[in-house]
Order: sequence, then C-alpha cells, then structure tokens
Amino acid sequence: LVEINNVRKTFGELEVLKGVTIEVEKGEIVTIIGRSGSGKSTLLRCINGLEQIDSGEIRIGEQVVHAKSTDLRKLRQHVGIVFQQFNLFPHMSVERNITLAPILAGRVQKGAAARELALKVLTQVGLAEKIDAYPEQLSGGQQQRVAIARCLAMSPDLMLFDEVTSALDPELVGEVLKVMEDLARQGMTMILVTHEMGFARNVASKIVFMHAGKVHEQGPPAELFANPATPELQNFISSTR
Ligand code: ATP
Ligand code: MG
Repeated sequence: LVEINNVRKTFGELEVLKGVTIEVEKGEIVTIIGRSGSGKSTLLRCINGLEQIDSGEIRIGEQVVHAKSTDLRKLRQHVGIVFQQFNLFPHMSVERNITLAPILAGRVQKGAAARELALKVLTQVGLAEKIDAYPEQLSGGQQQRVAIARCLAMSPDLMLFDEVTSALDPELVGEVLKVMEDLARQGMTMILVTHEMGFARNVASKIVFMHAGKVHEQGPPAELFANPATPELQNFISSTR
C-alpha cells in the first residue's frame, strides 16, 4: 500500500532524511522508533505531503504523493494523521469536530446522517456518550480518542500516528493505546511513531529503527528486540527500559 523509496529531505544545511526506504503492506502496523531528532516526525509528514521531499518517491496505492498532479487535499482524505497535540476545534462540539471534514468533502449530508456517522466512529473509540460535549469537558485521553474518531470518519486507507500518547498523563495512555490496538485488529493499515515499547512489541507487524536519518534496522518486533544487530539499536533499547 505504501512504498517509500530512497527519500531524502533537507532543512537548509541539515539533511534529516538520508535515503529512507520502507514498504508497508495493507493491514500492516509499522512502528517507527528512534532517538529524538532522528527524523521520525519529518518522515510521517512527508508521507501525507505535509512536507516536500528533495528526492526519492513516496507512493500510496497508485498515487505518487509528491507528483505535481497529485491533489493533496484528496490524498489526505484517505490518509489520516493524528498528532501528539489533539488539535480539536475548541469552540465546536465533538459531533461538529468529527463531521466537519466529511461534510465539506461531500461524504455525508449535514443533519441526521452526519450525526449517525459521528456516533458510529465515537462508538469505535468508546465515546458515544460524549457526542454533544465540548473538547474542554473531556480528559486528554478522551480528546485524543475524539481526534482518532475524527480521522476514522473519513474512512482512511492509512492512518499515521505521531507520538499520540506522549502528551497524556500516564493513567490515560492505556485507553488510547487500546483504541489503536482495536484498529490494528480490524485490519487498519497504520504507521506510527511511539515510545511505548510494549505496544510496539505486541502490536507492530514491523519495527523500523531510524538513526541519523536512515533506516538503521528493521524487522518483526520479536526478532529485532531479541537480537538487535547494531550497537545503536542495542543502546536505544536499553535506554528505553
Ligand atoms: P522527536 O523524537 O524529538 O519527535 P523526530 O525523530 O520526530 O524527533 P524530527 O521532528 O523529524 O525528529 O526532526 C528531525 C530533525 O529535523 C531535527 O534536527 C529537527 O530540528 C529538524 N527539523 C524538523 N522540522 C524542521 C523545520 N521545519 N525546519 C528546520 N528543521 C527542522
Ligand atoms: Mg517527532
């Protein structure tokens, strides 16, 4: 579904991605790990065209993300992204936050149909009873689950998650991870950056270890964690224990 091929990206003098190649099959859960500054967020932002790239290619299905002919707005309707900060609109109800994009995209009619869609995706994240609440009335974990529901309302083919639990109080992390685990089980294709090694170990189909702008090692979690081939990954793993 996703082919990232020899992608390079610089910010001024700084080369952040130095030829990154990753393949993601439909239904795979790919977890990107690596030290701060290794280029994880930049890579995610390149995948849905929030950043330009200098060379290489990213394909999602048949679409070449950075081709001139690509309508990024359309592409992003199929590629959801959730960030560390939930970015809900504070002056809008949960229902409105969720239905805004699908209504604008002509996916659903305003009114009863839109409300039904909101209820459906809120049920998926266990928050149906909060449909009329405002973001400030929700806990951080609940807000993040609404942000995930908002993505789901566009029925994405691919979801990108950038450290979605990092801003949460520890006791709220589990409920968000559980929602992501449910999505994984339902076959959603996901690429996620996380520091939650337990989640990476148990849920990921593949771990990608980024180091100095490159994919330093990749493989199934059981193998990679049991037998890290390089000292860089060995050090990274022991630093997260
Ligand atoms: P973290 O774990 O801290 O989130 P990361 O692996 O996600 O780190 P990135 O955010 O991708 O790292 O950043 C990689 C490098 O690129 C860093 O050195 C960062 O300072 C730099 N960088 C990121 N965005 C920009 C930008 N818009 N302009 C200039 N430099 C940037
Ligand atoms: Mg980051």
